[in-house]
Amino acid sequence: MGRLVILGGGESGVGTAILGQKKGYEVFVSDKGEIKEKYSKVLEHFGIEWESGQHTEAKIMNAHVVMKSPGIPDTVPLVRQLVENGIPVISEIEFAAKYSSATTIGITGSNGKTTTTMLTYHLLKNGGLNVGMAGNIGDSFAKIVAERDFEHYVLEISSFQLDGIVDFKPHIAIITNITPDHLDRYGYKFENYIASKFRIAMNQDQNDYLIYDGDDQVIRDWLAEHPVQSKLIPFSLKEKPKEGAWLENDMIKLKIEHKTLEMSTDILALDGQHNVKNAMAGSLAALLVNVRKENIRQSIQSFQGVPHRLEKVLKINHVEYINDSKATNVNATFYALDGIKKPIVWIAGGIDKGNDYNELMPLVREKVKAIVCLGMDNTKLKDAFGNVIDLMVETYSMEEAVKVAYKIAERGDAVLLSPACASFDLFKNYEDRGDQFKNAIKNL
Ligand code: ADP
Repeated sequence: MGRLVILGGGESGVGTAILGQKKGYEVFVSDKGEIKEKYSKVLEHFGIEWESGQHTEAKIMNAHVVMKSPGIPDTVPLVRQLVENGIPVISEIEFAAKYSSATTIGITGSNGKTTTTMLTYHLLKNGGLNVGMAGNIGDSFAKIVAERDFEHYVLEISSFQLDGIVDFKPHIAIITNITPDHLDRYGYKFENYIASKFRIAMNQDQNDYLIYDGDDQVIRDWLAEHPVQSKLIPFSLKEKPKEGAWLENDMIKLKIEHKTLEMSTDILALDGQHNVKNAMAGSLAALLVNVRKENIRQSIQSFQGVPHRLEKVLKINHVEYINDSKATNVNATFYALDGIKKPIVWIAGGIDKGNDYNELMPLVREKVKAIVCLGMDNTKLKDAFGNVIDLMVETYSMEEAVKVAYKIAERGDAVLLSPACASFDLFKNYEDRGDQFKNAIKNL
């Protein structure tokens, strides 16, 4: 089979190593940083050769194919050299898809990937299909394919994974939305990032489907200039497409391939307009793979959402506490502020990825009564909102932030953690930030 070299010994790297070995490759895993013990143990168990803390070029440049973890940019010298030497550098999704004949639903977008992936999986699974879920979420696609194969897969796919595909083609692709994110990896050019997202459709043909947010101007403009082969299935809160999903008198309506479905927005357990969109996207995919209407309605009703995404934590003294720690960019926070119908004490801040807060200004003026800044450096938040919001308090730990918010909030308010920033200044990751928020509330 040849030599498979894997750069990066994380979830996707180790999954690829297991699958590669099973398919007869001579496998070598190289990670310039640490490999977590949970992964090195697996490599040992399978007798797969690996190194960490360095890249030994002599063991890498003789590869027939290289799988690069999505965390490693294309611009690092080693990757450049591989490409110059004509060695294919692919992503885990590309590698794994070759060994699966399943029908795949691939989900990408700037926000809403995880929610839509989990919801779609929930719809298919409750619909009685033999379905697996993988990608950026939980186990890697490669690892699952190595262990067993399903008839259907719901895959959460990041733009970095898409950058490394060659032939991969989902039968159903979903683009939840596109707003500026990760621009540091795309030469600070938004169009490069958009192009990367649209790679999800690049191998699709007339028998495949592209489900997307028809209200998203970025997506519409791109499609107008870069036509795709697949059938276009928009969902919209504003207008009725020929085929797709739309709103009519508080009903979600779907029409696709002569199938129709209607359900009241009231049955959706999740709050927020963005979740109506996520429900539309997932339900369209479910209809396409023939899940029964009644099953779809029931599953939409029973889906409880994903932790750290507009997660309702507790009500204390008639104040609602909401954990949206996963909101690491402005657009996600926009939907949180938009969705909450109460006066808001907003906990925000962290590491800013070049945020432009202007988009939030109308919502902040209308709804936010106080901002609790939680970051090492809160200058940008203060500059943006200092003139608009009377009460801004700087805090440096979650415990302090929650205590301050508790003091400010009054009956009928909501305390919202929706940082619009990454978490690495004060926390391990967004989960840690959300967990600390929930603990601090419980300790009030
Ligand atoms: P991703 O996996 O793309 O990061 P998540 O489902 O984890 O997306 O959600 C990330 C954040 O975006 C959360 O704050 C969530 O409430 C918000 N969100 C979820 N769906 C959407 C959507 N369709 N549009 C905008 N924001 C969304």
